[in-house]
Amino acid sequence: MRKALGAKLGAKMQGLSTFRATQNNWFSSDGREQNIKDYASLLSELVWKRQTSFLAAAVLAAFYFDAVSVFATYALVALTEFLDVDLGRKSKSWDGQDPVVGRKIFKRIVINTIISALAISVFIVNMALQQSSTGHFTPLFFLFSASVFAAMYNSQLIGILLLRLTFYGFAFLFIAVFDLVRYAPPLKSQIWLEFFTIIFVLYFIVDISIKFSLRHKERLEQMKQIKEESERAKAALEVKAQFLATVSHELRTPLTSIIGALELVKNDTLTSLPESLKPIINIAARNGKRLAALIEDLLCMQKIESNEMEFDFVSIDANDLLCETVDSTSGVASKLGIHVTIEPCAEACSIIGDRDRLVQVLTNLLSNALKFSSYGNTVKARVEALGTRIRISIHDEGLGIPAGSKDRVFGKFSQVDSSDVRRIGGTGLGLYISKQIVERHNAIIDYVSELGVGSTFYVEFDRGTDSHN
Ligand code: ADP
Repeated sequence: MRKALGAKLGAKMQGLSTFRATQNNWFSSDGREQNIKDYASLLSELVWKRQTSFLAAAVLAAFYFDAVSVFATYALVALTEFLDVDLGRKSKSWDGQDPVVGRKIFKRIVINTIISALAISVFIVNMALQQSSTGHFTPLFFLFSASVFAAMYNSQLIGILLLRLTFYGFAFLFIAVFDLVRYAPPLKSQIWLEFFTIIFVLYFIVDISIKFSLRHKERLEQMKQIKEESERAKAALEVKAQFLATVSHELRTPLTSIIGALELVKNDTLTSLPESLKPIINIAARNGKRLAALIEDLLCMQKIESNEMEFDFVSIDANDLLCETVDSTSGVASKLGIHVTIEPCAEACSIIGDRDRLVQVLTNLLSNALKFSSYGNTVKARVEALGTRIRISIHDEGLGIPAGSKDRVFGKFSQVDSSDVRRIGGTGLGLYISKQIVERHNAIIDYVSELGVGSTFYVEFDRGTDSHN
C-alpha cells in the first residue's frame, strides 16, 4: 500500500515540476511577451485620448500657422493611429506563446513608433519653422506633452520608448539649434538660455522615462511572484487533497473488515470468549467505529473542499425529513435514556434540497444533542414556518455552549474545550461539514445556547414550491 501511495505521490510531484518548468519558461525572457502585449493593447486603448489632444493641437495650430501644412502633417499622425489600432487587435489575439508572431508584432511596433514619432516631430517642427520670433513656446510645449505622455504610457518597452524619445529629442534640439544658427546670438542672449533650458528639459524627460520603466518592471516582477505563489499554493492544496483521499481510501477497506471481525467476535455466542478479553474487544470495536467515522468525515470534507460533492436538489417535505432523521437515531436515543419529541409544522412546508445531505446535517445536529445531554433529558425536534422561511431546529437540555464559541463550533477539527467534550469524543468536523452543506443550499445554520441550560441548533431554508399539495 505504501509503495502504491509513494508511486502516486511521485507521479504527482513529477507533474508539478513539469508544470512549474512551463511556467518559468513563459517568463524566461523577463516577461517580454507580456510587455509586448501590454504595450500594444494600451496603444489601441488610448487611441481616442491621444487623438483628441492631437486634433485639439492641430485645430489650434491651424488657426495661427499655415493650415494646409498643419493638417497635412496631422493627417500623417492620424494615419499612424490606424496602424496602432490594427496592431493592438493583432496582439490581443496572440496568446503570448508563439515567438514568431511575437517577433512580427514587435517589428511592427518599431515601424509604427518610427512613423508616429517622425510624424509628430514634423508636425511640431513645422510650427516652429513658421515662427519668426524666438521662444517657440507652443511647439516646445506640445513636444514636452508628447514626451511626458510617452513616458507615462509606453514604459513597458524601454527600447521603444527611447526610440520615440530620440526622435522628440532631435526635434527639441533642432528647434533650439535652428535659432542659434539663424540668429548666431552671443552667449548672453535669451536664445542660448532657451537652448540650455531645452537640454535641461530633455534630461528631465529621460529621467522620468527611466523611472516609469523601472516601476513597470517592478510591478511585473510582483505580478510574477504573486502568480508563482498562487500556483504553488494551488499545487500544494491539490497534493494535500490527493494525499487525504488516498490515505482515507486505503484505510477504509481494511478498517471495515477489522470492525466486522470484532463485531463478530463480540456477538458470537457459540465460541465462549474469556471474560477478561470482553472489555478489550469492546474498546477495540468502539475505537474502530470512531476511526471509521473520522475517515468518513475526512473524505466528506475533502469532497466538499475540492468541490466534488454533487447535490441532487429536489422538493422535500421538511416534516418527513425530520421524522426520517429522528427514526434513524431512535436506537441511540433509547440506549442513552433520552426522550426525543417531534413537533411538525402544521402547514405544508416544502424546501428544496438534497435529501441525503440534509439527513446527514440533521443527523449530526441530533446526535450532538444526544451526545451532550444527560440520561432522562428530552430533545425536541421541530419544524416551523417563519413567513417565507422554514426552520428545522433541535433543542436539547444538555451542557450548553459558552458564549463566543461560534467560530470553534463551526470550525474544522475544533471542539469547544471542556473535559466533558473530551470525555464524549468526536472529530470536530461534523458541524463544519454541515455548515458547508447548508451553505450550498443557500440556507443558514446557527444556534442559541446557554451554558448549563441547553442549546438549540437550527437550519433555515427558503420555502420551496410545494409539490405535495
Ligand atoms: P464533534 O464531532 O466534536 O461533535 P461537531 O463539529 O459536531 O464535532 O461539534 C463541534 C463542537 O461543538 C463539539 O465538540 C461541541 O463542543 C460543540 N457542540 C456541538 N453541538 C453541541 C450541543 N448540542 N451541545 C453542546 N455542545 C455542542
